[in-house]
Amino acid sequence: MCGRGYAGWRGELMAGLQVIEIFDSLQGEGFWTGVPMTFVRLAGCNAPELGLGCVRWCDTPDSWAPESGAEMEPAEILDRAHFPRVCLTGGEPLLQTEGIVALVAEARYRGIKVHLETNGTVEPPAAAARPGPPGEPQAGADTLFDWAVVSPKPPDYLIAQGWDGLIDELKLVADERLEAATAERLAARHPGAIVCIQPVWERGPGPEGRRPPEGRRPPGGSSEARAVRLVMEHPEWRLSLQTHKYLGNR
Ligand code: SF4
Repeated sequence: MCGRGYAGWRGELMAGLQVIEIFDSLQGEGFWTGVPMTFVRLAGCNAPELGLGCVRWCDTPDSWAPESGAEMEPAEILDRAHFPRVCLTGGEPLLQTEGIVALVAEARYRGIKVHLETNGTVEPPAAAARPGPPGEPQAGADTLFDWAVVSPKPPDYLIAQGWDGLIDELKLVADERLEAATAERLAARHPGAIVCIQPVWERGPGPEGRRPPEGRRPPGGSSEARAVRLVMEHPEWRLSLQTHKYLGNR
């Protein structure tokens, strides 16, 4: 890699990505809640094949089929980024690792930061493929993404070993299968990660399919109550609400 210019990296990393949609919004969840980003939803998800429990409450099943959407080049995707941060989501984005490495290279060249949301089942891209910004040394092993959110799923909440030490945010959905002991085990395994406990959206479709019906509250013993309890019992963790759904945003 030594002696190879950044332009070389960009040229070599030509790989298309299968994209469902690209849209501007505020980050609705987790640490970066409320910050404007351009979201890139990639096609394909391995959760049905792996038997992950999130398929029951997944809010983006239209992203599961790998052939959905359209193939786009990284430059074409980033031409539609209107904010300093792009969030790669899915589906499971890392099913398209080659294209993602190319997109990160192009994003760094343009000065755009890249966030990733993954279910953690796929190993992160190899450090050897990680380009640095123009004029700077090769980036370190932990810097492919500017922010990595890993959200392991029931029943086993498995995270690929390569993620050790690389997770910025650990997002755990508080459905009835999430035990405090599981969350504690994951938090201990990933001590550098901010732990966000997030309720399942239980308020149902409202006007335009997004807003909660006026005055409707989730039933007692709900996922919201479970999430609040978990955070109150672990004050170093934080509650993550899907604020885009409360606001009727995408
Ligand atoms: S991994 Fe994400 S996109 Fe795939 S089924 Fe689970 S929640 Fe949905």
